[in-house]
Amino acid sequence: MARIGFIGLGNMGLPMAQSLLKAGHQVEGVDVSAAAVDKLKAAGGVGVETAKTAAARADVVITMLPSGKEVREVYLGSSGIIENANAGTLLIDCSTIDVETSRAVASEAEKKGLLMLDAPVSGGVGGATAASLTFMVGGSAQAFARAESILQKMGKTIVHAGGAGNGQAAKICNNMILGVSMIAVSEAFVLAEKLGLDHQKLFDISSKSSGQCWSMTSYCPVPGPVPTSPANREYQAGFTAAMMLKDLKLSQDAAKNSGTKTELGADAARIYSQYVASGEASRDFSGIIRFIRG
Ligand code: NAD
Repeated sequence: MARIGFIGLGNMGLPMAQSLLKAGHQVEGVDVSAAAVDKLKAAGGVGVETAKTAAARADVVITMLPSGKEVREVYLGSSGIIENANAGTLLIDCSTIDVETSRAVASEAEKKGLLMLDAPVSGGVGGATAASLTFMVGGSAQAFARAESILQKMGKTIVHAGGAGNGQAAKICNNMILGVSMIAVSEAFVLAEKLGLDHQKLFDISSKSSGQCWSMTSYCPVPGPVPTSPANREYQAGFTAAMMLKDLKLSQDAAKNSGTKTELGADAARIYSQYVASGEASRDFSGIIRFIRG
């Protein structure tokens, strides 16, 4: 069993770390929030003061941090993971961040002879708790081969997407589809209301027709057709509108930097930005239907 340093024990990181504990790994956790570290300790983990100490002791370091800024802080510099990890340590960043930062950090790790992967996830807090996440992994085949058995303890689907940064590329492309499709499905339900067409009837037809998609059949933005969707509990998140906006901004930055025309992605970023500004940042992203309804 591995000694795993786990940095970032928030909504996602804590249940992921708990899955590793359940699988018999030793988990040494770090978080700027003492309360988060206490929760790991209560689950049988060990609390460590700094990322530097955790990195120096670990066989594997996993990070689950809010954004590229924190990832740079924690990996780079003299107190960072890369400077303090022992040769042969495997580094796995599961945060959703920009492709540029991901590739820059991986390149620093490589210079020090460390194996590094970007492995952002899909599946949310529910998937983290059930250990059924999807991991989209970027990095060398050698690093992927070493990481696979550890990722399997936290997820069900693990896909090697190519070299460094390709996991992040997959994540932001996927979430651009999700943001656009949630708006499209929501607009269709609001139009149906105006036309006197029942929600359930539109669902019964579209879920079996060419309008079928995950936003319709698994995460339906109106209450009723899919009992597990957040629409049935006042759009309590789930995946917050703020997180969706963050991912849409990442895909827009990537589109700009790569000269890619993504007009619907840009519209989705603008619409989610307005929704978040309306005071709904912590609401589930499917609550966008209420904003569209006006
Ligand atoms: P969160 O804010 O709940 O957790 C982040 C944790 O990192 C917090 O506990 C925070 O205290 C800690 N932290 C911040 N800076 C730190 C530092 N310098 N050193 C140590 N700890 C630090 O966020 P989350 O919901 O767990 O999301 C984490 C990542 O996963 C994000 O990149 C997010 O985009 C991605 N993600 C989230 C979801 C979701 O549904 N929540 C789904 C998929 C992907």
